[in-house]
Amino acid sequence: MSELVPLKVQMVAATEFTPPPDVPWSTDADGGEALVEFAGRACYESWDKPNPRTATNAGYLRHILEVGHLSLLEHASVTFYITGISRSCAHELIRHRHLSFSQLSQRYVPEADADVVVPPGIAGDPELQRLFLAAADASRASYAELLAALEARLADSPGAALRRKQARQAARAVLPNATETRVVVTGNFLAWRHFVAVRASEHADLELRRLSIECLRRLVELAPAIFGDFEITRLADGTEVATSPLATEA
Ligand SMILES: Cc1cc2nc3c(=O)[nH]c(=O)nc-3n(C[C@H](O)[C@H](O)[C@H](O)COP(=O)(O)OP(=O)(O)OC[C@H]3O[C@@H](n4cnc5c(N)ncnc54)[C@H](O)[C@@H]3O)c2cc1C
Repeated sequence: MSELVPLKVQMVAATEFTPPPDVPWSTDADGGEALVEFAGRACYESWDKPNPRTATNAGYLRHILEVGHLSLLEHASVTFYITGISRSCAHELIRHRHLSFSQLSQRYVPEADADVVVPPGIAGDPELQRLFLAAADASRASYAELLAALEARLADSPGAALRRKQARQAARAVLPNATETRVVVTGNFLAWRHFVAVRASEHADLELRRLSIECLRRLVELAPAIFGDFEITRLADGTEVATSPLATEA
């Protein structure tokens, strides 16, 4: 029986910043936010802060976002370990070329016990969920049957590890798009902002939208001056979106 698994987004790494001791400057933030400010000030050696509007880290970064000096955001990065997403969601996620990925291998890890992710558009409706789970169970049964048949057919081939990989890579063709995958994703602040801008919009796939909003929540906790301009609101259908007047991509 297929088990449903919830989305989990864990931040596992983020930029640390060590200010150079020979620069006459300090700020009221740390980590990536401080690094972005440092990089901006290093362009002009503007270590003193005559303008009160940009004297704080938050004020300075707001100005950077407003004037579009966005390459500064590429200096700081964040890594998430994301579990409880479907293969179809991951397929859309990995289209973002400035993020880096390490994804669970279906060729090395057997999927016989893999969980499935119920699409948000199905979750909560008992009849739709019953249909969904029946289909997932049927595909999982076909996978197990095909895997056993492939392993038997390859029994005389050399190398047990290679045989298992060959059997799994063929049998996985019948697994559903809803099969859970797990992925480590690293990106710089600019890449995460772009991802949120296009995937937290109402036009994006619901599961990926939910993921991007979860990432946004973690990013706002870490770096409110970089991500806090995104506002999370609810649409009439009860789903969430995030938009920002400073993000023009969406
Ligand atoms: C609502 C929605 C529907 C979609 N539907 C489909 C679909 O039906 N079929 C489909 O195939 N895809 C679809 N996509 C995926 C979409 O085409 C992009 O592949 C995906 O959103 C990645 O975004 P991106 O290309 O803007 O940016 P990223 O890869 O995240 O890159 C960020 C930005 O960097 C720049 N950039 C990156 N690489 C290059 C490059 N080689 N040359 C120039 N500039 C570059 C661009 O400005 C780009 O916007 C959809 C996306 C959305 C949001």
